[in-house]
Amino acid sequence: MPDAAGHLPFYYGSISRSDAEEYLKLGGMMDGLFLLRQCLRTLGGYVLSVVYNLHFHHYPVERQLNGTYAIAGGKTHCGPAELCEYYSKDADGLCCTLRRPCNRPQGVEIQAGVFDNMRDNMMREYVRQTWKLEGDALEQAIISQAPQVEKLIATTAHERMQWYHGNIAREEAERKLYSGAQPDGKYLMRERKESGTYALSVIYGKTVYHYRIDHDKSGKYSIPEGTKFDTLWQLVEYLKIKSDGMITVLKEACPNASSLTPAPPSLPKVRQLASSANSDGYTPEPFTEKSRILPMDTSVYESPYSDPEELKERKLFVNRDLLLIDEVELGSGNFGCVKKGVYKLKKRQIDVAVKMLKVQDEKTVKEEMMKEAEIMHQLDNPYIVRMIGVCQAECLMLVMEMAPGGPLNKFLSSKKDQVPVSNVVELMHQVSMGMKYLEGKNFVHRDLAARNVLLVNQHYAKISDFGLSKALAADDSYYKARAFGKWPLKWYAPESINYRKFSSRSDVWSYGITMWEAFSYGQKPYRKLKGTEVMSFIDRNERLPCPTDCPPEMYQLMLDCWIIK
Ligand code: ADP
Ligand code: MG
Repeated sequence: MPDAAGHLPFYYGSISRSDAEEYLKLGGMMDGLFLLRQCLRTLGGYVLSVVYNLHFHHYPVERQLNGTYAIAGGKTHCGPAELCEYYSKDADGLCCTLRRPCNRPQGVEIQAGVFDNMRDNMMREYVRQTWKLEGDALEQAIISQAPQVEKLIATTAHERMQWYHGNIAREEAERKLYSGAQPDGKYLMRERKESGTYALSVIYGKTVYHYRIDHDKSGKYSIPEGTKFDTLWQLVEYLKIKSDGMITVLKEACPNASSLTPAPPSLPKVRQLASSANSDGYTPEPFTEKSRILPMDTSVYESPYSDPEELKERKLFVNRDLLLIDEVELGSGNFGCVKKGVYKLKKRQIDVAVKMLKVQDEKTVKEEMMKEAEIMHQLDNPYIVRMIGVCQAECLMLVMEMAPGGPLNKFLSSKKDQVPVSNVVELMHQVSMGMKYLEGKNFVHRDLAARNVLLVNQHYAKISDFGLSKALAADDSYYKARAFGKWPLKWYAPESINYRKFSSRSDVWSYGITMWEAFSYGQKPYRKLKGTEVMSFIDRNERLPCPTDCPPEMYQLMLDCWIIK
């Protein structure tokens, strides 16, 4: 992940507070002179250092998990650049407005932090090993879950540092520090057996001192009475600059011999796999980020057929004997109903949703369902509901992966208070990744809407309902419908309504409407208009209004989806 401030000329990277003050002095100390640096205490955060009245003011800028930035108590911004831009127009609680950037002097590069250099590789290794992913599934996991995974990794990065000695006794730590030269400030960190907490051992005046590291309820680390940090390596970096109550600052790491050998990276314990049998599928709220179930933790991130042994047995038509259908109805549609079920694979059982045809003998309906099945059979992406197979028995059935959270619009309208906007952004991002995949395969969905986005859990969405979908021929850029049908006009682009033309570009229009539904927490678009009236509304260059509390960037994205050309 590139540093979000990496392009800013007044960004210095990982420098100390006193270095920042030196640069500001060099810059002339006028009111409103400012620079940005990496926060040494929080993950992904920054500090804005500003001069006013010949004094220095330092404001921590925190990065939230959804990737937005804010100064405590202040407004939220989508990036550090936007945040600085905002405070250059309005002091809004700061000592003064930001007036002049204190740019890096010539020859001064952005100072990389300890973690910066190792982050990308660690992310990749972590995702690969924890979830055993490769190829596209690996790349998608990295892109979609970067902030969460980054946090997981950062909290265990100390295990890779040469000063970390793992679980050794106090006496062993002393022996290591006393062996060889004994300069003041030589240090190591160890895990304490009894409690699973950590300790820092430092030598000073030929004596070893041990400091317990506290871990508070919010997950922050500190030496007793000291400054608090998100991670252990940030604590160490800080204590190299400031003693923070210890007898000395940390100077020279006492290296752990085993950390220098290129042993396979010690990765954090493998996260528990969330059972698909978890009937309601929701993570209990409020959850801590550490216990949050990521899409990759669920059993539906990868296809059951990604296991070669299962794939060997795969057929389009599945055996009725392997399918158990429950009475529980998950939903219903034009064709019939969708029931809950269990399907027996070779090695395990999986929860499934079974779409059942109600009118048995009508040929066209059967053909339609088979078309839907053929489309789904070709798709395999974490953000798309997969088909397990078709089953012909008491009726024609489509057996699919189960998405127990149900349709997005219903979920959002019933759980409005429990779902922050950042959660909606996360889900819509996943939908966009599923749609991008679809475009890459040359498929058009033609019925993208919040009702057809199903949830695996509160943080995991999948696109479903391929009843209207079409595969485009290799050299076609659009599909032309022969005649009008029962169409969801309010979701359709003008060219689809006017000329019956459907393409990935018209899917983009529907994506915009779906976004609007999501950020409106399940409201119906153009409520006061009839389907046919929407056409003239759009022709008059009018568009749906910005939903309440919807971030302006998100509304802009919707408007971009509704550009005619
Ligand atoms: P239609 O073509 O009639 O719109 P859908 O495929 O959208 O049919 O399914 C109708 C309803 O059935 C959905 O709104 C949802 O409630 C339920 N459903 C469909 N597929 C699944 C699934 N894979 N997991 C859970 N519920 C599902
Ligand atoms: Mg539907």
